[in-house]
Order: sequence, then structure tokens, then C-alpha cells
Amino acid sequence: MNVHDSERLSGLLESTGLVPQQPGDGTADVVVFNTCAVRENADNKLYGNLGLLAQVKEKHPDMQIAVGGCLAQKDRETILRKAPWVDVVFGTHNVGSLPALLDRARHNNKAQLEILESLEVFPSTLPTKRDSVHSGWVSISVGCNNTCTFCIVPSLRGKERDRRPGEILAEIEALVADGVIEVTLLGQNVNSYGVEFGDRLAFGKLLRACGGIEGLERVRFTSPHPAAFTDDVIEAMAETPNVMPQLHMPLQSGSDKVLKEMRRSYRSKKFLGILEKVRENIPHAAITTDIIVGFPGETEEDFQATLDVVAASRFASAFTFQYSKRPGTPAAELEHQLPKAVVQERYERLTALQDRICAEENAKQVGRTVEVMVTAQSGKKAAETQRLSGRSTDQRLVHFSIPASGETPRPGDLVTIPITEAAAFHLVSDPASLAEYSVRRSRAGDAWDRAQADSCGAPATGPSGTKGVSLGMPLLPTRK
Ligand code: SF4
Repeated sequence: MNVHDSERLSGLLESTGLVPQQPGDGTADVVVFNTCAVRENADNKLYGNLGLLAQVKEKHPDMQIAVGGCLAQKDRETILRKAPWVDVVFGTHNVGSLPALLDRARHNNKAQLEILESLEVFPSTLPTKRDSVHSGWVSISVGCNNTCTFCIVPSLRGKERDRRPGEILAEIEALVADGVIEVTLLGQNVNSYGVEFGDRLAFGKLLRACGGIEGLERVRFTSPHPAAFTDDVIEAMAETPNVMPQLHMPLQSGSDKVLKEMRRSYRSKKFLGILEKVRENIPHAAITTDIIVGFPGETEEDFQATLDVVAASRFASAFTFQYSKRPGTPAAELEHQLPKAVVQERYERLTALQDRICAEENAKQVGRTVEVMVTAQSGKKAAETQRLSGRSTDQRLVHFSIPASGETPRPGDLVTIPITEAAAFHLVSDPASLAEYSVRRSRAGDAWDRAQADSCGAPATGPSGTKGVSLGMPLLPTRK
């Protein structure tokens, strides 16, 4: 959600004439921090970075610094008190005000603080500068009506607000027209989508409607909640060919007692039942999860229950977190906060188990033929191995080589290749010959070519007198 908000902030700033800073450009005119408050060290990182910028600002007083996002929503005046050289503090509900606040701060020569308590404009109506030409995020809802006791999100992002299906589909169609072939539907709790306009089956219907969008090849979503995950969503996933065989289903804990304390209303049996149904309907689905270790009061027995559910679930991968106390959440007030050493030791046992499962599940992929969408980023060893990278339909990371005389795909193109090796966190494909390798050029690859041409200074035609800002945005005047 924050990454997507950052794309909106970039889009907004570009629409005012600013351009992204490049190495060697000197001091930036504007620096924006889009903060997250989910984990504890966000505060320390922010103030550390602001401290470094104080020295820069002393030498370049015209540089403006803005702080937005969840931490700004939570800390508000504290940021200006601790870092009075900050020019703008804005919250999660008024991302769209950033350009106006920067102008006002400059004009009045005074820091501006604006935090709204609820959403005024659904953020999807704001301009966006996408990081990728082939994939796009699409918000279907913001906020959350749940009250998980460890989570700061509801107090910072507010109650769930659902966007109308017609608007969502129109945004996806516009992205597809721009070259995007993959979208990820975003919401704090996607399967409760529709609660605001009274349609419990709205999320499944939305998935099916995505299936009717011509040119849209891959649909993903994050995150669902196990409590309200209904069979119609599983059926919609199975019956809609462009909905990918992948599911992120947050477990958080395998102990029913801890789940109750977390105020998460499903139990481990229900969770395992969902996975079983998903696998019955979508046999190759890769299922991933989130797990918190060391929630207050978690006993060794509770932790063992988590290990048991993890062992039974065979997750393709897991985001594992050590519980960190977030002031303002009910769990922060609970007794029996666990010592760091206990949490660390359990965390290591959990990651050792999950890493072993990741390796075993990936090993099962060897010999399969997969379709991979090529991404612009390659692996760390790309220079040495000469491999490109991409994501399979089930979202596994695949590094692949091109056989002699094979066509080089562009980011966004699709290659069909055999998996020849597996590691815990990635797969490798070294096709033995051209017979094992094929490239399907896609509209996303064409969009990549256009974006490259634009950013290399090749003329991109726009409204009279404008210089191009690329990445699929309409052409905008630049301030440079
Ligand atoms: S469902 Fe997710 S966003 Fe909502 S309160 Fe629980 S953890 Fe937070």
C-alpha cells in the first residue's frame, strides 16, 4: 500500500513540473519521506534520516522536506518538534494535498501540518507514476474494519472504504491500454470488499470481471483475511484463467489461544481448511503467509502450534516477524510481553523450518515448464551468470539463461522455459537448446521499448513545448 502511495506522490509531484532526481543532479528541490508505522524501527530510521538532511538543508535552505504516511498520521506535531527543519507533514488521508502544502510552506516560509481523520478523495483518482511498465497496483479499498490487537493500521488508515467496481475496472482498462499486462488488486482486507455497498460476494465478482478484460494476462491480489474467505472467491480464482495460481493468506499464529488474543476470528482448523479447498480447486497454487512470533503471552505450546500449522501448510514462502510493540495498539498494553531472547530463539526455529519447506517445495518445481514474465531487475549474480529474471504465474522468482541464438526478451515479455534447478528462494532455468525456450513478445514489452526511447531522449511528442516525462505518464511540462 505504501509503495503504491509513493507512486501517487511521484505522479503528483511530476504533474507540478518536478522531475525525479538523477545521480549528479546536485541537491534535490524536494525530498519526501513516505513512512510506515507497522514496525518499530520506522521512527528511528526516519529521525536518523531527517538528522542527516538537517546538515544539507543548512547549506541549501530552499530544499523542502516533507514527511507523510502512517508515521506522520500517528506522530503529527512530534515530527515538527523533533525536526523543526521539516517543511510539510501530511497524513494518510490527504496524500493529494502534498503539492499545495509544499507551495504554502514556501510562500509563507512556515512549516505546514495537515492531517485529516478520514479520506476525502479516494487516492486512485490522483496521478500515478508507476515504477513498472508491465505491472500495476490497483486499490480496491482502503482502511480496515477489523481490530487485530497488534495492528496500528485501523487507527492510521481508518475504516474500510470501498471503491465502486466500475471505477476499479475502468482504471484496470486504462492501465491495460497503457501496456500493463499484470495488476495486483490492493486492500487491507480484500475479501471484505463490498461491505460498504452491501454485497458480500463483490470480491469474487470483481475477480470474474477482471477475467473479461482483454489484454490483461495476470491478476493477483493482496491481502485477504482468513475469517471472511468464502468459497465463492476460491471458485472465482479457479474459474478465471487470468487470476494467477497464487494466494497470500496471513496466518499470524497457529495457536487458537493466541489468535483469540490477537482478535483474529478464525482458528487454525478453519485456516487449514481454506488451504485444502484452494489446493483442491487450484492444484498448483503457491500459498504464502505472514507469521508473528512472540505475541505477548505466547507459550512454548502456542509456538509449537504455529510450527505444526506451518509444517502442515507447506507455504511456498512466509514473511516472518518478531512481535514488536506498537504504542496505541491494545497488544502493547498486554501483560506478559516476552523477553527478546525468547522471541529470537523461536523466530530462528520458525525460519529454519520454513526455509526447509521453501527449499523442498521449490525442488518439486524442477522439471516443470513454466511461463515467466520478465522483469527489469535481475539477480545479484546476473553479471556473472548472464541470467535474466522474472516471475512465474505462481509468483516464484526464476533466473533464466538464453540458449545460443535465442531471442533476448524485453521486460514485460513472456518466456516459456523448463525449471532446471531450485534453491530455497529462487528457481533456475538453463534451457539446453532452443527447443526448450520460447519468447512471447507482449504489449508490455512494447511499452518498455517506448519508455526506454523516451528516457533516452528520443523525441516523444507532446503538447506544444513540453518535454517528456516517461513511464507511461501523459507528457508533462518539466521545471528543469
Ligand atoms: S485485518 Fe490486517 S489491516 Fe486489518 S487490523 Fe488486522 S492486521 Fe490490521
